[in-house]
Amino acid sequence: MIQRRKTRQINVGWVPVGGSAPIVVQSMTSTKTHDVPATLDQINRLARAGCELIRVAVPHEEDLNALEEIVKKSPIPVIADIHFAPSYAFRSMEKGVHGIRINPGNIGKEEIVRDIVQEAKVKNVAIRIGVNSGSLEKDLLEKYRYPCAQALFESAMRWSEKFEKWGFYNFKVSIKGSDVLENIKANKLFAEQTDIPLHIGITEAGMGQKGIIKSSVGIGILLYMGIGDTVRVSLTDDPEVEIKTAYEILRALGLRRRGVEIVACPTCGRIEVDLPKVVKEVEEKLKEVKTPIKVAIMGCVVNAIGEAKEADIGLACGKGFAWLFKEGKPIRRVSEEEMAQALLEEILRDINRK
Ligand code: SF4
Repeated sequence: MIQRRKTRQINVGWVPVGGSAPIVVQSMTSTKTHDVPATLDQINRLARAGCELIRVAVPHEEDLNALEEIVKKSPIPVIADIHFAPSYAFRSMEKGVHGIRINPGNIGKEEIVRDIVQEAKVKNVAIRIGVNSGSLEKDLLEKYRYPCAQALFESAMRWSEKFEKWGFYNFKVSIKGSDVLENIKANKLFAEQTDIPLHIGITEAGMGQKGIIKSSVGIGILLYMGIGDTVRVSLTDDPEVEIKTAYEILRALGLRRRGVEIVACPTCGRIEVDLPKVVKEVEEKLKEVKTPIKVAIMGCVVNAIGEAKEADIGLACGKGFAWLFKEGKPIRRVSEEEMAQALLEEILRDINRK
C-alpha cells in the first residue's frame, strides 16, 4: 500500500481535494470555450469517462461571456484558466466558476495577485497556483539561468507563503516542467516542506504513446512517493484519452479502481482464437461502466486458471471454444462465435448484482 502524503483538504466546488479524499482526476477542454454547445458536450463526455474537475481556457472576452452557462450546465466543477489578464480572474469569479488557475508569474504586480486572492476568499473560489517551467518569474530565471527544480520549488514556496500570509488556504499548487526528473525533484522538495495539496502532471508530454509513457513514468513515480492529490495527464490528444490514462496509472498503483479492469494475455503461438478482437469489443462496450470489476481474458489454459481465480469473471480460450469462469470456477463452455457476447452478459450480470 502506498502511504499518501498528509495534506490539508480544500474544496473545488463540491469536490474535496487532499486530506482523506481520493486522488481527483481532472482534464482540460480542447474546444473553443465560447462555443458553448461543443464545450458542454466535451465536458459531459469527459465526466462520463470519470473526469471530476474540468478546466477551460479563458483567453478572450467571448470565452468569459460563455462561462456562466457552462458553469450552470456542467455536471462537474469548472475551473477558469487565466493568463496575463488579471481582470479575467475577477470576472470569471463573477460568472460563478468554482476555481481559477493562475500562474502568478505571468499575472503582473504582487498587489494584483493579492486582490485576486481576496476576491476568491469572499466568493469561496479555490485557486490553483500554477508554477510552470515556461512562465517562471524573471528574478528566479536570472538566479538559476534555467527553470531547474530548485527554481520551480522556490517560486511555488514564494507564492504559497504569500497566499497564507493573506489568510487564504483554499488553494493547491502545481509545479510542472516538461523534464520528468526536474519535475519529480521540484514536487518532492515542495512536498517535504508543506501540507498544501499538489496537483501533479507532466506538462506538454506530447502525442500518443510517447506522451502516455512520459506521463505515466513522471506521474507514477510521484504517486508512488505518496505525492499528488489531483492528477492531469496532459496529452496532445482527445482529453478522453487523458482520463483513461489517469485511471490506468492510479489503478496500476492501487490508488483508485474504476470500471472494468481487463487482464489479457499478450498472446503467443499457442493461441487458437482472435483474442485481441474480444478484448477490444469488451473494452469498447463497457467503457462507461463505473463499478470496479476485474476480468481475465486468456488465450489458453496455461495461465488462465490462475488469472481467472484472481478475477471476478474470466475467459480461458481453447481451439474454437472457451471456458467462462466466475470467481475462479468454470461455469460454462461457449463456442468461439458466442464467447464475446457470453462474457459481456456475465460481466453485466455481475455488475448489476454489485
Ligand atoms: Fe500464450 Fe496461453 Fe500465455 Fe496467452 S495464456 S500468452 S496463449 S501461453
